[in-house]
Amino acid sequence: MSGEKPTEAPKCAINSERLWSSIMGMAALGGLPGGGCDRQALTDTDRAARDLFVEWARAAGCAIKIDQFGNIFAIRPGARPEAPAVLLGSHLDTQPHGGRFDGIYGVMAGLEVVRAMNDAQILTESPIAVVNWTNEEGVRFAPGLTGSKGFAGILPPSAIADMRSRDGARFTDELERIGYRGDMSSSTLPVAAYLEAHIEQGPVLERAGTPIGVVTGVQGVRWFQLTVEGADRHAGTTSMDVRRDSFMATARIILELRNAALQLSGDVRFTAGRVNVMPGSTNTVPGKTVVEIDLRHPDEIVLDRMEVLIAPTAARIALEERCIARVERTMDVRPVHFDSRIVDSIAAAAAGRNERFTRLASGAMHDASSIAQIAPSAMVFVPCRDGISHAEEEWAEPEHLAIGCAVLADAACNLARVVP
Ligand SMILES: [Zn+2]
Repeated sequence: MSGEKPTEAPKCAINSERLWSSIMGMAALGGLPGGGCDRQALTDTDRAARDLFVEWARAAGCAIKIDQFGNIFAIRPGARPEAPAVLLGSHLDTQPHGGRFDGIYGVMAGLEVVRAMNDAQILTESPIAVVNWTNEEGVRFAPGLTGSKGFAGILPPSAIADMRSRDGARFTDELERIGYRGDMSSSTLPVAAYLEAHIEQGPVLERAGTPIGVVTGVQGVRWFQLTVEGADRHAGTTSMDVRRDSFMATARIILELRNAALQLSGDVRFTAGRVNVMPGSTNTVPGKTVVEIDLRHPDEIVLDRMEVLIAPTAARIALEERCIARVERTMDVRPVHFDSRIVDSIAAAAAGRNERFTRLASGAMHDASSIAQIAPSAMVFVPCRDGISHAEEEWAEPEHLAIGCAVLADAACNLARVVP
């Protein structure tokens, strides 16, 4: 224990065994032999997980509301029922070879907060609502974050209703089929604050040896398509000094851009994950190469600085290689900066439990990225082993999950104001 004074006394005790067994109970639905989960959105296994969540939430005294996107809200009434709710949650859907914790932890931690408040007979002024957002993962229906984007008004309801799955099914028809097409209007659930607990899905907390990540925001993402054109020529008869080899030019451009990105910031993420070399013949100098670049950073200024380097760097190197380059930006998702008051309430809750914490930006997108557009939001991270996620071997320590849940509970109590 450090000598630091707790900023606020813990208000309710988390039952870590109950939290763990709830997470493991969910993991049994769509469970895979390697310990992971396959519970894609709007499948029968998703329905089973939803049914279990609703059953548990009702048993904890919550009222259930469902909106047109299939988002489920389990509401624990407050002393002032009309007051905006403090919303806690995440998602129960998984990747095809997903883990047991990604998303599930946030919903089960929210439920555990409600159960612990019941145990301690705590009444809050604002209602507490635990939410399961529909189709966060975006596997069966792409893109993801569907439910939270719908709730936040980022995507129009008609566009969501008509989304098609890989197997041709319509989003709304599938919602109807599994019995989770509701009619609650988003406007009937005003949100005072949104808190999402999640495994980090990266290595920062594990390396730092801290059990809590206070998430300050979500990094921005930009995609670029770089096309380099040279000329198809015979690989045996064309001497090296006259070649217009589009792939060699591209390789040099990518390496130089990576170095430039690293010089701008050690936190930059620069990936060239998809390359199409044409005509794709072993004995032809490739005349055309197209590469997709994924660039990420929490700070928009760094993204801007990097972006202005891409076209001139590509043009200069292409010219040296007797080629022509052009660059097009194909996607721009701006960085999200969480509300400092909510971020600080999480930091205060961690300090109040005498737990060490690290402030960090999330490398992955989350439902909180959507909800932050309409309500003050923030996230609590806990470490996951080796930073591994979206894999069956995903693992988080029960102790860390309990600490994260306790921090979530204290922040929620603080924001919803406990009635003395
Ligand atoms: Zn997730």
